[in-house]
Amino acid sequence: RIVSAETEDFAEDMMEQSLRPQKLDQYVGQDKLKNELNVYIQAAKSRNEALDHVLLYGPPGLGKTTLAMVIANEIDVRIHTTSGPAIERPGDLMVLLNELEAGDVLFIDEIHRLPRIVEEVLYSAMEDYYVDIIIGQGPTAHPVHFSLPPFTLVGATTRAGSLSAPLRDRFGIVSRMEYYSIEDLTKIVHRSAGVLRTDIDESGAIEVALRSRGTPRVANRLLRRVRDFAQVYRDGLITKEIADKALAILSVDSKGLDDLDRKILTTMIEFYRGGPVGLSTIAANIGEEMETIEDMYEPYLLQLGLLQRTPRGRVATDLAYDHLGYEYDIRK
Ligand code: ADP
Repeated sequence: RIVSAETEDFAEDMMEQSLRPQKLDQYVGQDKLKNELNVYIQAAKSRNEALDHVLLYGPPGLGKTTLAMVIANEIDVRIHTTSGPAIERPGDLMVLLNELEAGDVLFIDEIHRLPRIVEEVLYSAMEDYYVDIIIGQGPTAHPVHFSLPPFTLVGATTRAGSLSAPLRDRFGIVSRMEYYSIEDLTKIVHRSAGVLRTDIDESGAIEVALRSRGTPRVANRLLRRVRDFAQVYRDGLITKEIADKALAILSVDSKGLDDLDRKILTTMIEFYRGGPVGLSTIAANIGEEMETIEDMYEPYLLQLGLLQRTPRGRVATDLAYDHLGYEYDIRK
């Protein structure tokens, strides 16, 4: 899979770690957010206060985790990393909060998946740096008050809409991560090739960027695959020709669509005359989770204008018909 929320295997995980920018000036793109954050970080540092809580939302692979780490590095504090599904009970959260030192960053990935009872504990922790929890059960139950050092919560989510309003309102900085431009992705590909000690020319870097669906994780993943082809078919240098050849074999087309993207669109076109068709129907037809389609595939198809969301369901656009090579007379 070219598109996924997680790294695929241990080797890729190691690669991601090694390719992560450490400082804001190495973090490519997202200029508006970066400039804003830079001001807030400098201000918080000069006042010797914790940075305001930050919520980052947007599709997977756009650099939310990386940015959380960059923030911690820039402030020069520790980062504690966890995810919504990993915190099942208030006690799990308490263990994490207990480890915090003044100014530290607590990063919670997939924060929309925090259980409600855990979320409620976070409210006072975020707002006034304390937690009141009930210890024990029945007649022996009693409240215990914990004071916390000032800290910064960085939350990441693919679906801001699923976050409860009280939680969302407690973030001072809320930012949507944008898909990256080809220019920025090309820079990322060159930078990653440098870290991986791989030779790539400008045409090769642009080709990988063009097919990376605006997503750095995908760019790095494609680079890693293309590098293998370059080693076998050439002297190791990645050119446009090699990238083309490799990506065709990997079924990544000229717009960066993979098999599943095409399956979504062809199902809509062939079985439902291009729509409108409900997401659950599409999901059932192609045997995928609705959430996977909605969080990982649909945003990019919408961005490219291949798909539209209407009140009556999803619609494949003329562009989708053209891109997949359907004749016009197949339409209604
Ligand atoms: P997310 O948390 O949004 O799913 P990650 O932060 O894990 O995404 O990013 C995935 C990979 O993409 C990282 O390993 C990192 O190397 C790369 N990456 C993400 N954003 C950038 C960026 N702005 N500049 C350079 N590399 C980036």
